[in-house]
Amino acid sequence: MTKFKFNDKGMDDFMKKVQKEVKETALNASYDYTCPNCGTTFKAKVGENICPSCSTKIDLEPDSSWDKL
Ligand SMILES: [Zn+2]
Repeated sequence: MTKFKFNDKGMDDFMKKVQKEVKETALNASYDYTCPNCGTTFKAKVGENICPSCSTKIDLEPDSSWDKL
């Protein structure tokens, strides 16, 4: 039986690496976003987006829960 032992330092580094990757993935992902002006659903990314139907500018902010990442 193989055992993996993490000391506190190793575990901390591991968690930081995982959290960083999760955050980067979230930042690069696109989301189904519904335009508040015309109701068109389109893929939006974090940052500035333009509705493909009515050209409304939408700034998609990261969720506040991301601060914990
Ligand atoms: Zn729109």
